[in-house]
Amino acid sequence: MKLRNKINLYTAFLFALLLVILNITVYFTFNTLLVNSELTTAHKEMEKITENFGESLGQIPDDTLLRSYLPVNGMIQIVTENSMNPPLITSADEQNLSKRKPEYYRNEVSKKIVFEKRQYSFESMPIIMKDGSVANLQITKSMETSNKILSILRLVLILVTLLALIPVLISSRLLSNFITKPVTSMIKTMTEIQKSGTFKTIKLEGQSKDELFQMGQTFNHMIELLETNFEKQEQFVSNASHELKTPLTIIESYASLLKRRGLTEPKLFMESIEAIHSEALRMKEMTEQLLVLARHHEQWNIEVNKVNLNQLLDQTVNAFKNAYKREIELKAMTESPLFFESDEKKLKQLLYIFLDNARKYSDDLISVILGKKDDEIFIKIIDRGIGIQNSELPKVFDRFYRVDKARSRKQGGSGLGLSIAKEIADAVGIAVQLESEPGIGTTATLLIKKVEK
Ligand code: ATP
Ligand code: MG
Repeated sequence: MKLRNKINLYTAFLFALLLVILNITVYFTFNTLLVNSELTTAHKEMEKITENFGESLGQIPDDTLLRSYLPVNGMIQIVTENSMNPPLITSADEQNLSKRKPEYYRNEVSKKIVFEKRQYSFESMPIIMKDGSVANLQITKSMETSNKILSILRLVLILVTLLALIPVLISSRLLSNFITKPVTSMIKTMTEIQKSGTFKTIKLEGQSKDELFQMGQTFNHMIELLETNFEKQEQFVSNASHELKTPLTIIESYASLLKRRGLTEPKLFMESIEAIHSEALRMKEMTEQLLVLARHHEQWNIEVNKVNLNQLLDQTVNAFKNAYKREIELKAMTESPLFFESDEKKLKQLLYIFLDNARKYSDDLISVILGKKDDEIFIKIIDRGIGIQNSELPKVFDRFYRVDKARSRKQGGSGLGLSIAKEIADAVGIAVQLESEPGIGTTATLLIKKVEK
């Protein structure tokens, strides 16, 4: 059964039960009070009658005497211990009472009796007859009026119970609606989430801050948390697969080189092993870093060392050349090697991202230039490829943004490289500039503020 119907049913049932119990109590209390009051009145009347009755006995015929005390609806009679047909007088409406078997009592009696399904008050009082014997003066009085009042009361109470159930049903419906509304909308949202596979929150109405509002709020917070976690996971998966592609290609190409010529050329063997080892280490650290970033909102873990930029570029360009079999020239504009305090691995990661784009979006020679201007060191990665339109330039750093999707789909990218590059560059304090001319080529410049010679 639905929660809403349950609430409806239980509240209505409980309230109806309460009303019925209350009304039954009212009815029976009133009934007892009414009967008691009838009996008391009848008893008082009886006492009054017996006071005068003795004096009149024998002076007036019994019939006439009894008639003078006859109640409006009832019977008066004198019952002696052995008499079978005692003198009695009944009112016109209650002639049936004469059929009731007389009974003699030694004491005063005041009670309610039922005769032929009708209720009567019955009073019996011992009196002394003129011959000195003891008899009972008995008065039986119909309680029809009280019964009528009681049946009206019964009817009123039943009507009140039925009428009171109407507002109860309405209010229980309102209550159940009020309670089940957020629950239903939560179920609806959950079903939508399940069907569409996207995260959704519930619209919270009012600011009542009651438990239901809090429940909705908690649900929304939970969904937001799940969404962030889900996004982080997705980001981790896509970033990790993007960043692992280049080192894996480099490892693969060096490994096949080793397979072919490793045993005969010791120099090549050493270079390959060195490159594979360093790429493997870099991959290991990179995945750890990405995992940390995905789990918490932590900063990139930067390890600052004195980096020989000439050496770093040499290694990187070489590894890239070998892996992708592309022509890449490296030009150093300064005579002495340039040093810089930075995170070597992050720098390498940056270079790979730009080299990878240059490789993908051009077929000719790629140039890498290392130089110094004023206080700034720059690394330029220049390709002579398809280029990027000016209007697209600011957008290419967005996650998953790709210029001309149909064209670049052939290159199999996912639009992540430049966004990761921007994050890393920000983390290590390097500015990135992208200049491009469609059909001519693209130049990516890494601007490094020189702090140390
Ligand atoms: P991924 O790097 O994830 O494999 P991607 O190379 O498409 O995919 P980004 O590196 O972020 O993604 O580059 C975004 C878009 O910018 C590319 O799709 C491409 O259209 C354009 N782009 C980037 N570098 C160049 C370049 N050197 N020449 C021409 N277009 C480029
Ligand atoms: Mg790319």
